[in-house]
Amino acid sequence: RAKALGKNQLQFYAQHSKQTIQRDLVVGNRLRKAINAGELYVVYQPKIDLRDGSLVGAEALCRWHDQELGEVSPGEFIPIAERAGIISDLGALVIKQVIADLQEWQCQQIEVPKVAVNVSAKQLQTTEFTQWLAESVRSAGLKPHHLVIELTESVLMERNDINLPVLAELVACGFRISVDDFGTGYSSLAYLKRMPISEIKIDRSFVEHLADDQGDQAIAAAILTLGHTLGHVVVAEGIENEQQLRVLRALHCDVGQGFLFHRPLSRTAFHELLMHGNGGK
Ligand code: C2E
Ligand code: MG
Ligand code: MG
Ligand code: MG
Repeated sequence: RAKALGKNQLQFYAQHSKQTIQRDLVVGNRLRKAINAGELYVVYQPKIDLRDGSLVGAEALCRWHDQELGEVSPGEFIPIAERAGIISDLGALVIKQVIADLQEWQCQQIEVPKVAVNVSAKQLQTTEFTQWLAESVRSAGLKPHHLVIELTESVLMERNDINLPVLAELVACGFRISVDDFGTGYSSLAYLKRMPISEIKIDRSFVEHLADDQGDQAIAAAILTLGHTLGHVVVAEGIENEQQLRVLRALHCDVGQGFLFHRPLSRTAFHELLMHGNGGK
């Protein structure tokens, strides 16, 4: 049994209790079935222009309601999917759903919003990922710039011998890359300069106490200066109150996401917003 597991999995199992391992197996098995049955679905959290409050796009987030386990959060099931080796299937399902939604909205003459999808390292490294994505978008009558690829800082920095060529391919095809959870990893600034990215997302942990923590203000200011100097759009995630918004606006942050504007919305609610509303604050 142990031999069949990868090194990461062995490390994981060595560090965790019997209960965790059991839960991991149960969730992994149910998740595998849910993916095969196409039971996962996508919600959309709007991204808002902080200068004028208009809607600039959305982030697609995966959701799973299991009959026995109830609602399982991505914070739990995404790492399990990664360890169980099914993250690429999960990610492909999410991307297919997003493309189907965008195609439907485009057919209704709605201006197609830019939608960001979260892509894991393993998924990025799937054979011909770029070709698959480009073909999926093309055959739906969409344009590559309709999709933004969100990669966490750690994915960008680790194994960049493998990842960098894929990023270059994606960008050459017209897809845009966004660096998620920025500030939590160990970015080498030299690498950051070389990355073909167009957006940086300030991690929620720096936004949370932004109103009264000078350290977090300094970090946010530094990320904004760095991002803007390199010509990237800077997004703040997890904006929950007016005080955080005020600080971010004063620092000239471009785009924001958070419960203050919108919680992640069902496809129906997001569709409604695209047709009638625009943005938030
Ligand atoms: P993330 O990509 O950094 O997504 C942002 C998370 O912050 C989402 O959690 C979102 O619901 C939450 N959030 C947004 N605004 C606020 C706010 O104002 N306050 C607070 N407290 N939270 C806010 P969610 O949906 O639970 O997803 C967690 C993580 O799971 C994501 O973090 C992402 O890393 C991963 N994930 C979600 N869907 C997918 C997917 O389809 N594929 C992959 N590979 N990962 C995914
Ligand atoms: Mg994200
Ligand atoms: Mg994030
Ligand atoms: Mg995050």
